[in-house]
Amino acid sequence: MYDLVIVGGGPAGVAAGVYAARKKMKTVIVTDSFGGQSIVSADVQNWIGEKSISGFDLAQKMEAHLRSQEGIEIVDGDLVAEIKEIEPFHFSVATKNGKKFEARAILLVSGSRRKKLGVPGEKELEGRGVVYCSICDAPLFGGKDVAVVGGGNSGLEAVRDLLPYAKEIYLLHHRSELKGDKETQEKVLKPNVHVVLNAETQSVDGKDNVEGLTYKDLQTGEVKKLPVQGVFVEVGLLPNSEMVKGLVDLNQMGAVAINFQTQAASRPGIWAAGDVADSLYRQNNISMGDAVKATLNIYDTLHAKGLLSEN
Ligand SMILES: Cc1cc2nc3c(=O)[nH]c(=O)nc-3n(C[C@H](O)[C@H](O)[C@H](O)COP(=O)(O)OP(=O)(O)OC[C@H]3O[C@@H](n4cnc5c(N)ncnc54)[C@H](O)[C@@H]3O)c2cc1C
Repeated sequence: MYDLVIVGGGPAGVAAGVYAARKKMKTVIVTDSFGGQSIVSADVQNWIGEKSISGFDLAQKMEAHLRSQEGIEIVDGDLVAEIKEIEPFHFSVATKNGKKFEARAILLVSGSRRKKLGVPGEKELEGRGVVYCSICDAPLFGGKDVAVVGGGNSGLEAVRDLLPYAKEIYLLHHRSELKGDKETQEKVLKPNVHVVLNAETQSVDGKDNVEGLTYKDLQTGEVKKLPVQGVFVEVGLLPNSEMVKGLVDLNQMGAVAINFQTQAASRPGIWAAGDVADSLYRQNNISMGDAVKATLNIYDTLHAKGLLSEN
């Protein structure tokens, strides 16, 4: 019986693993890879302690820090497929590759995946002008013309993040009216922001880097080209929470509902942190902090109940 199974090896999972090991909790971490979403980022500039580091180097440092800890079991190249409650504070966990674990507590740090446009050129130019995180990469587009695809709140936030840097900003939305809050619209729709409604993105264009975007006007059927150097994709986020559907409360986006003080989910014995949890902001530093909070609360809870393996 493990004290804890950590599901996911992004910044949240690694932080939890380091703290769980130092608390000498009998822990196993299961992940298909280490580093998380920002691994694809060429330049992470807001990782506190590092002025600038590539997502890949950051992932390697995280994994090395975790592997330097004693007493933590690491299962990588695998995914948790199923979590079942046997009784309160006793769960069974099954992985895709057929591994099985039993544990007193589960920490879900399986993150999220950004919805893609699924158009030609998007995948090929990811990290070379195609961007999924405006907080992170807007500063890289100083003086450039960019397009933001998605007229909801995350699209408007991307416009806000770009205003201090970009020259012309084209905000494309496939409906006849923007979906984001009116108040935010008033704040961000400046003279250099051009709203293009009824626009369906057809392709992201360019050889080595983004040179433009092609869209179809859904009212006239006309196909038009926009010469831009960046395409910010803001069409939604999908939390990786499928394995706890029906086991814990999820919000309308599928993120795990949590107690903000402890990161505890709705079913006793399950915690969640980082991008899979119902938190307002999605950043490496935040997901780590929340995972540490969860791990300390898991330790205190199991200790108070006399359920820790050393007890
Ligand atoms: C392109 C991009 C660039 C970004 N740049 C920055 C930046 O510069 N600075 C910043 O602060 N933030 C950045 N972010 C946001 C940041 O990456 C996320 O907020 C952060 O990674 C969330 O960490 P997490 O550990 O919660 O989840 P994730 O990073 O999503 O990690 C989850 C981990 O769990 C694994 N996993 C998923 N499902 C399962 C399962 N069933 N079983 C086992 N493991 C599973 C995943 O493979 C992954 O390793 C960026 C995001 C993107 C998409």
